Amino acid sequence: MASLEQQQRAPGHQNCKNGCENGAHCDGANDRIQGAFKASEITIELTTSPKEKPDPSTLVFGTAFTDHMFMVEWSVAKGWEKPTIKPFQNIPIHPACSALHYAIQLFEGLKAYRGVDGKIRLFRPQMNMDRMLRSAIRMTLPPFDQKELLECIKKLIDVEREWVPKSTDASLYIRPMFISMEPSLGVKRPSKAAIFVILSPVGAYFPSGAFNPVSLWANPKYVRAWKGGTGDSKLGGNYGNALFAQYEAQDAGCQQVLWLYGEDEQITEVGTMNLFLYWTNETGELELVTPPLDGIILPGVTRRSILDLATKWGEFKVTERYITMNDLLTALKENRVKEMFGAGTACVVCPVGAVQYKGENLHIPTMENGPKVAARLLKEMVDIQYGRTENSWGVVVGSS
Ligand SMILES: *Cc1c(COP(=O)(O)O)cnc(C)c1O
Repeated sequence: MASLEQQQRAPGHQNCKNGCENGAHCDGANDRIQGAFKASEITIELTTSPKEKPDPSTLVFGTAFTDHMFMVEWSVAKGWEKPTIKPFQNIPIHPACSALHYAIQLFEGLKAYRGVDGKIRLFRPQMNMDRMLRSAIRMTLPPFDQKELLECIKKLIDVEREWVPKSTDASLYIRPMFISMEPSLGVKRPSKAAIFVILSPVGAYFPSGAFNPVSLWANPKYVRAWKGGTGDSKLGGNYGNALFAQYEAQDAGCQQVLWLYGEDEQITEVGTMNLFLYWTNETGELELVTPPLDGIILPGVTRRSILDLATKWGEFKVTERYITMNDLLTALKENRVKEMFGAGTACVVCPVGAVQYKGENLHIPTMENGPKVAARLLKEMVDIQYGRTENSWGVVVGSS
């Protein structure tokens, strides 16, 4: 990852690792940066009316928020202001704000976990910061120093440490967002912007440890992302786009969309998760496969971690390559499919039990096969998150 200095010096886009090789959209972004905000300059204003902390087992995802939030503002005129932590509050937004009209915004999602040793950990947070910078450049939002933002987030979590659930089922969800604050209707690069971070305690994704498989609706009539588009950036626009298909999937009795792409109906992602298939491939080898980062796949931290772990096990082939609906149909017919699962921060892994395709209900034997690989990946990652396994992927926040 390029340092901030390198970004400032070199017009270009050395941070864009995925899906933007030509960098045309990055031109000019880097020479607009006027000094980074620094975590050491953060000001903290504490609330005088702290809230009651909810029982995480009763929580609906993303409905409860902590007492404080992080904010830092940017403008062409003044560059980055000093970062602040202040009481959780509504934010004043100009009615012409281009985040509202043209979706010039992005977000991130990661979690803080309270380990068995009482320490609070983040999971590979630098990867979220790097992805956030890439999304920012793609959205013509100004660059920032990822390390400084991470330090600011750690300070916010330290302020809110009592909000990190004392449970190895629950966690504190961290939601950074970066939005245009441009107060005009012109379709242009924002002259004002702001980064916010809010925190939300969340309960277990699989309550009582039940590893419930999801059913998927595969229909090429909708696409989530396309070549040259923004599928590899974490944008609100991508989510808003996808919602209609999600409800059509539900109307068809399925839980999530299996996103297909192209003439050959490549299998790309599941809902808002990356996709993995564990099978005996065409040439008879055991293989864990996920689509490559070609611009339409979101480069998930969980995805990367699964590839890293399974490669380290060295027990079967681990591949990033295209899989088509036809490949899946043939493999199902020949009983070669072992496990199919989604991967993302919310659930870590989410087993797939069925796919509805062209009016046919395809059974995916993930649960019958354990799911051995999915469960082992889940355990290894959760053990790192909750400090049961010492690993550099678990980044400790604060002192206790
Ligand atoms: C966030 C996201 C993922 C998962 O990414 P993680 O970093 O593993 O949480 C996968 N697909 C899409 C479309 C996403 O937005």
